[in-house]
Amino acid sequence: MYGMELMGMELNKRHKNLIVFLEIDRCMADAVQAVTKCTMGKRSLKQMYYGKFAVTFYNMDTGEAIRVSDADANRKDKEKETKEEMRKRFRETPAEELFNVERVKVNLPNPQLPGAMHTSVFCSVCGEKVGDERHVLRGGKPLCRSCAEGSYYEVIEDEE
Ligand SMILES: [Zn+2]
Repeated sequence: MYGMELMGMELNKRHKNLIVFLEIDRCMADAVQAVTKCTMGKRSLKQMYYGKFAVTFYNMDTGEAIRVSDADANRKDKEKETKEEMRKRFRETPAEELFNVERVKVNLPNPQLPGAMHTSVFCSVCGEKVGDERHVLRGGKPLCRSCAEGSYYEVIEDEE
């Protein structure tokens, strides 16, 4: 909510010029989706999986971008507090003390912008189609990342 305020954008409304970069896949991710209306399907939400409580708000029209991060997350000396104490602190502390804000420049390649699929190639190993330049080149041949770098899954062969 603070990030949207800093961007001068209305909450809970879709803004076609807004892209958010999420660095965490925990509860904060759902909060960001709810107040920005940005979604992966619209390509307006980019999940970076950095494991950090931070999000960048990027205005595609103006190039303006701010990165908002949890000021407490980086404090190593943080004393243990209960959930109730934490909620109380969040309610009572001004947003500018809860968060660090940095003005940043975003590098977003064209194929990652919203809109129709830019290009696609067929993987030279598995033959599956890979869109939006998510492939890699090995010896001049296109490979999907699954074939090039190893995958999160293994195909189980049916025994007959
Ligand atoms: Zn492949």
